[in-house]
Order: sequence, then C-alpha cells, then structure tokens
Amino acid sequence: MIRRLCVIGVGLIGGSLALALRRAGHCGQIVGAGRHAATLERALALGVIDGYDLDLAQAVAGADMVVLAVPMGAMAEVMAAIRDHLASDAILTDVGSAKGAVVQTARAVFGALPPTLVPGHPVAGTENSGVEAAFPELFQGRRVILTPTEASSPAAIAAVRAMWEAAGAVVEEMDAHTHDQMLAATSHLPHVVAFALMHTLAQMDAQSEVLRYAAGGFRDFTRIASSDPVMWRDICLTNAPALLDTLDRFRADLDELTRAIAAGDGARLETVFREAKRTRDAFRH
Ligand code: NAP
Repeated sequence: MIRRLCVIGVGLIGGSLALALRRAGHCGQIVGAGRHAATLERALALGVIDGYDLDLAQAVAGADMVVLAVPMGAMAEVMAAIRDHLASDAILTDVGSAKGAVVQTARAVFGALPPTLVPGHPVAGTENSGVEAAFPELFQGRRVILTPTEASSPAAIAAVRAMWEAAGAVVEEMDAHTHDQMLAATSHLPHVVAFALMHTLAQMDAQSEVLRYAAGGFRDFTRIASSDPVMWRDICLTNAPALLDTLDRFRADLDELTRAIAAGDGARLETVFREAKRTRDAFRH
C-alpha cells in the first residue's frame, strides 16, 4: 500500500498507472507533477490525480513512492530536480523504455545508485499519448520488467513489484542489458521500420494515391508509426547500442532478400518466408 504516490509525467503510462492503482485501492493520495499546468489540470479534471505541483521538489515531498513517467530525454533533468528533496525512504522507480540509460543517468545524478531506486518498464502501451489516452486496464495481464541495480534494496524491489501487481501486471526481473537487447529487437526495431516505411511512402509523389489502396495488413503493420515522435527519438538515442546491433542484422536480412529478388531466386525467398511464417505462427500473445 502506497500512502502518497507522486507521478512525474502524467501521460499515457503515468496516468494509466495512477488510474489502475486508485481502482485497486493500492494508494492513498496521488500527486501529479510535470512542466505544464494545462496537462495537470486535465489530469485533475479526469480524476487521474488528486492534486499537482509544477515544482518537482515540492511534488515529491512526503511521497513514499515516486514514479518517473516522462520521456527518456527528460529523465536526467527530472532526477536532478528531485534528488535533494526525496524522503530518505521514498522509493523511486521509472517506466522508461531503455533501462541501461536510466541506470547510467541515476549514477551520474545521484553520485552512487540509491538503494531506493528500482528501474522498471511496463511492456504495454498504445500509439496514443497524453493523459486523455490513459485507462486503468492498460497493464492488466501485461508484463512489467524490473531491472533492479546492484544497489536496489529487497524492500524497494518488493514495493515496486507490489505496485505493478496491484495494477494488474505480471512482473519479471532481469538485468538492464538483457532488457535493452530484447526490447531493441521486439519493440524499438519494429517502430523504426514502421516509421521508415511511412517516411518512404510520404516522399513518393503519388503518396495519397498509393495510400488509397492500402488495406488492413498495411494498417496493422504501420499503426505504430502514429506513436509520439519525441518519445521515439529519445528511445532510439538512449538505446542506441542495442538498436544499432538489431538494425545491422535487419539490414543484412533485407539485403539478402533484395539479392534474392534481383536474382529471381524464388527458392531462397520461399525459405526465408517459410522460416518467418513458422516463427510468427508459433508466437501467441
Ligand atoms: P506521454 O503520454 O507523452 O506522457 C509523458 C508525460 O511527461 C506528459 O504528461 C508530459 O507532459 C510529461 N513531460 C514531458 N516532458 C517533461 C519534462 N521535461 N518534465 C516533466 N514532465 C514532462 O508519454 P508516455 O507514452 O506516457 O511515455 C512516458 C514514458 O513511458 C517514456 O519514457 C516512454 O519511454 C515510456 N513507455 C511508453 C510506452 C508507450 O507505449 N507509450 C510503453 C512503455 C513505456 P507535458 O507534455 O505537459 O510536459
């Protein structure tokens, strides 16, 4: 049970977490914080938070759980703003999509990793952003990956785990490096590919004509290219090493398919497509 939850960045993820915890009766008071009063007024009107403070230092005062739900690029400035104002036993977690970068930022800002810090990442989301898009069922049955540091205390890990379980999530733990490799392959690469495909089409002269003929498959495949550009810019930059590695592999595969098409090598194309189909058919989510 959380007495006073402070959510910094009351958008899709922070707002959905607040709604889920309120519904579960897992926390007393929920305080929002961020950089724009308009966003927080909206969150207040929607009943997502009980109050807010634009001053991050004030917002975290008295909180026993602080959740950083801002874009990856804002983590450093937010950590620096709250560093000297957290209660000594306040638990600090985040929802950022790249975990190595969060740990690195925390080490730089705090000097040493605090035992109260437990980085986390809900593997759930939509292509919509902002508090209007938040809903309490977002994490129901979805995975949340915690990447405790070598300094994270067992009590802090247990509290963050209990928070996500109260929100309906299935919690797993792994190291930040493994997380970043896996998410680069399953989430970050697909987003880059979807953005690249839509960018290619956007530059074609007959773009509007082409899109008139786009069917359901195209819609499914490119839905994620509607995601927030700033958030994805930050994710690509903060998980660059793992993402570059998966992009290299993907580029090699594309090159191979290109060569097979150019050479009229139907057997090779069929082999690759069969392997891909077998993997996709076996994937159940
Ligand atoms: P979002 O809906 O855009 O919410 C971000 C919130 O942070 C907004 O309320 C925004 O408010 C606030 N904010 C932005 N910059 C800030 C700053 N410099 N200082 C203080 N507040 C700031 O984004 P989201 O989808 O919830 O994503 C939040 C985090 O969750 C990101 O780190 C992302 O990597 C991670 N994540 C996202 C998904 C997903 O599918 N969307 C899934 C898992 C994890 P203002 O615009 O008013 O400042």
